[in-house]
This record gives sequence, structure tokens and C-alpha cells, in this order.
Amino acid sequence: MVDNGVSDSLFKMPTIKFTKLFINGHFVDSISGKTFETIDPRTGEVIVKISEGTKEDIDAAVAAAREAFDTGPWPRMTGVERAKIMVKWAELIEENGEELAALDTIEAGLLYQLTKFGIPAAADMLRYYAGAADKIHGEVLKSSGQFHAYTLMEPIGVVGHIIPWNVPLMMFFTKVAPSIAAGCTMVLKPAEQTPLSALFAGVPDGVLNVVPGFGPTAGAAISSHMEIDKVSFTGSVETGREVMHAAASSNLKAVSLELGGKSPLIIFDDADLDKAADLAFFGMEKYVLLVLEGIYDELEKKLVEKAKAWVVGDPFDPKTNQGPQADKNQFDKILSYIEHGKKEGATLLTGGKSIGTKGYFIEPTIFSHVKEDMRITQDEIFGPVMTLMKFKTIEEAIKRANNTRYGLAAGIVTKNIDTANTMSRSIRAGIVWINCYLILESDIPFGGYKISGFGGKDLGLNALHKYLQLKSVVTPIYNSPWH
Ligand code: NAD
Repeated sequence: MVDNGVSDSLFKMPTIKFTKLFINGHFVDSISGKTFETIDPRTGEVIVKISEGTKEDIDAAVAAAREAFDTGPWPRMTGVERAKIMVKWAELIEENGEELAALDTIEAGLLYQLTKFGIPAAADMLRYYAGAADKIHGEVLKSSGQFHAYTLMEPIGVVGHIIPWNVPLMMFFTKVAPSIAAGCTMVLKPAEQTPLSALFAGVPDGVLNVVPGFGPTAGAAISSHMEIDKVSFTGSVETGREVMHAAASSNLKAVSLELGGKSPLIIFDDADLDKAADLAFFGMEKYVLLVLEGIYDELEKKLVEKAKAWVVGDPFDPKTNQGPQADKNQFDKILSYIEHGKKEGATLLTGGKSIGTKGYFIEPTIFSHVKEDMRITQDEIFGPVMTLMKFKTIEEAIKRANNTRYGLAAGIVTKNIDTANTMSRSIRAGIVWINCYLILESDIPFGGYKISGFGGKDLGLNALHKYLQLKSVVTPIYNSPWH
């Protein structure tokens, strides 16, 4: 390993084919001609320059999506026809899988093993919603008496998707697959840190438009646009609030928000401690670890051992356990949380520093004996920082698990079915994983309680309903009273 954590022999740079905005079926320069740099978090160096979309480009993309929705074939074709195109798209994703996975790895610093695993998962999302595209229907409400009444399930219209940098391709298809199956047209703004894999897409002209750019310009132009019918946002709580304000003060467009989390992983004393330690590392960036008193010291020891053997480095190297953080902002934010943890009196068991002089690598960091009111316990860090708390009883574990403004997810590690049932029903979170963590599949709804979001879950069949609306139709059967 060299100084920046990247081994030279494994350093890969895939060919970059698409760097422009994708509007109305064509790759085009931004109207202003401006570009921005996308950065390789392994080195801090520029990968490529991308066309920077601003309000004018969003206007052009929305006009294309509006036209495609109001007069184009996509919402009017049968579900089976839409499904055929989606299935073809899934095949293309798999054919180009290695290249797509590499784009996410160089931009987000994600392990290549993970981004490669995301390729069949993304293709499956398309196939899953393709299977649902021809099963969208209303129902007959009355067919006797004076009136015939029925409902139609119609696509909501032009959707604006705004997505973050973590797992870019998976996030892209989580949003695009159900909305495209529903018959919507859309404008999607990928995160400024990770625009490359989103530009790799292709469906009929105007149906999907991709405009990379920054939040306050391109993102805000989507949430405040008068011709967008729905905004579907995933990102931080702070930006979620801004998106909602903009939606409220423009055309009152429908809003769904998938926001941050600070999820507990609760480990009981009957757990297999090696497996518990594996799960703890697997989801390290996502949660607070609550550990039953009797096994606290032993688990603490195992976690520290694991941290010492944890390989931080080139995300393309199969031996690497953790790549760089996605960008400089995120890197600085995580290091400042580590400083807060030290100042607030948490015990730093291991880690706590950045690695090397290039790129955004951070040691796996474990804080023990953290208190409920510390910032590292309350705030989402989104980095390799584990925080450990002790509990004595199941009641205390429930209280602590729920003592957060977030409600995205929770994990429970126990062999006792009663404990698992009690915990899964008592925790206020949108998904509870028992003896596993971060299992995300097309047919399992995902989305938060409380400040972690609302407006319909991602994934699962109900995600389709985020992009549909119900119309009632009523007509006299005979002897109309109106004639
Ligand atoms: P962020 O809110 O800063 O950015 C997300 C997206 O919003 C980006 O595309 C950004 O350009 C855009 N944006 C920024 N300002 C905007 C504005 N004023 N108007 C419109 N758009 C704007 O979030 P981030 O830091 O990039 O992403 C990490 C966050 O995403 C974390 O909080 C994480 O928990 C959350 N997240 C949530 C889920 C979920 O399903 N609940 C999944 C992944 C990530």
C-alpha cells in the first residue's frame, strides 16, 4: 500500500463515455457551457469534467418530460409494452455491469465487490417493477343502482428525482424503476459527487432526463418547478426541509422524502459474538451499537481486534474492507465528529485519524461509553465511526433505541424469538433486521419513520403507488337524471 492507501498495481480507471446532460434522448452541453469536476476520492484528483446543469437546463429537461408525458407514447402504451423495454434495459445493465460498477467505485469510494453486487440488484429492480407494470388498475365501485362508478390508477405525471451520492446506481434504479413502470416521465438530478453512472441510461426520448448539477441550483430548480407534479427526494434532513418548502411555495407538488438515520444495532447476550461483530462492521456507518451489559467487555475486545485487522485502501482490491470517504466535505465532517466525540468524553478505543496524505481515507474508529446526549450519538455521521452504549434490560434497550429523532432502521442480534418479537414491535423504525443487517431487496419496502421520511416507501410494490394517483369516474347507468 502506498501513502494514499491505494496500491498502484490495482489502481483502475474505467473509460468514461458520458459527461454531458441527457435531455430528450440526446447528450447535450449545459446551456451556460459550464462544467464541474468530479473527484476520485482515492487521490483527491479530478476524474473528468461534467456539464453542469442549472435552472435553464432543468427547464429544458422538464419541457421534454412534460411533452413526453402530455403527448408521448410512454404513459399511453400498455404495461406489457413498458415492461418489455424495462426488461431489455435490465439486460443492458448486466452486459455493461463491470463498467457501471467501476464508475460508482471511483466516484463514491465504494468497494468494487459491493458495486458489482449492486448490478444484478439494479437489474432485478427493473425486472421486479416490469412485472408490476401491467398490473396497475383501479376497481369497480358500483355497477348497479343509478350510477356506475370506478377508479382509474393513473401515473402522477412528471417526476423530479433528487438523489444522494451513496450507492449511486442502486439509488438511481430505486427511484427510476417504479416511476417508469407507473408510466411517469422524469427529470433526475444525481448528486454532484457521483453523476457518472446515472448518465449511462437510455429509454424513449424525453421519458428520462438526467441533469447533473449542484443542489442549490439544479436541485432547487426541480423542487420549485411549476411543471413538475411530484418530487421524490433522498438525502439529508436539512435538504429535505428545503425541498418541502420549495414544493409548498411553488405548485404544491406531491413530495416524498427518504432522509437520514441513526439506527440502533442491539446485541443481546445470547448472540454469537463473532457474527455480531461482523454485523457491527458491516453497517458501521449507519448506527449506534447498543450492547447488553454482560457481553459488553468481550464484544468491545472483539470489535477492537477486528478494527486492527480491517484493511482500508483501494476499493478495487478484493482484500480491502473499506475504501475512501466519498468527498472532502464528508471526510472533514467525519473527522470533526471524531473530535467532538473526544471532547465530549467518549472513550476512543481505536482509530480516530485519517490515513495518508492523499485521498479521503479514515481509520475505522470505535468510541465506547458514549452517552445519549452526545453529538456522536444523536447525529448521523455517515462514516466509519462506531459508538457503543451499554444497556441492562430489554426495556432500557427499547427506550434507548427510540430516543432519537430518526426512525430509519434498526438491527437486533439474538437467538431468542420472544426478545426479537418484542423488539421488532417496540422500535419506531421503518425496517427492523433480525440477525442480519442492511438487507435491501426489490420486494422489501424501505423508508423511515419520524424525521427519517414520509410520503411512501422506496422498493416493494407500494413504491409504485408513490408515482400513481387515483381518479374516480362516475356515470349514470340508464335514465340519467341529468337529461
Ligand atoms: P444532501 O441532502 O446534501 O444531498 C442530496 C441531494 O440533494 C444531492 O443531489 C444534492 O445536490 C441535492 N440538494 C442539495 N441542496 C439542495 C436544495 N437546496 N434543493 C434541492 N436539492 C438539493 O445529502 P447527502 O449528504 O448528499 O447524502 C447523504 C444523506 O442522504 C444522508 O443524510 C443519508 O442518510 C441520506 N440517505 C437516506 C437514504 C434513505 O433511504 N432514507 C438513503 C441514502 C441516503
